[in-house]
Amino acid sequence: MPGDHDLDLRGRLIRSLGALREMLPGSFVERHRKCGKPNCRCADGKQLHSEFQVSVLLEGKLKTFHIPAELAEEARRKVEMHKRFQEAAATIGHINLRRFLQRKGEKEKR
Ligand SMILES: [Zn+2]
Repeated sequence: MPGDHDLDLRGRLIRSLGALREMLPGSFVERHRKCGKPNCRCADGKQLHSEFQVSVLLEGKLKTFHIPAELAEEARRKVEMHKRFQEAAATIGHINLRRFLQRKGEKEKR
């Protein structure tokens, strides 16, 4: 039955959500730039500085937070978790909608 496959998938997705509990919303951005100091390694444009940001929509406004380099990998990972959470939620919603519409269709046939 195709429904069994859906239920297996839904169960697996639900059980995977706990591992995403440290997720962060928004998007992670890495920028490369010159600092402007004439004697710096970045001056020739080959070794630019990395700058990390997380941008989040908060109450309808886009807020951008500077992220220190030592927290950048953690922030990148946690923002990625949020994407996986949203994808899982969307898939669970679609499975449930399909199942609901199927039940609705069976009721209407009677
Ligand atoms: Zn520099």
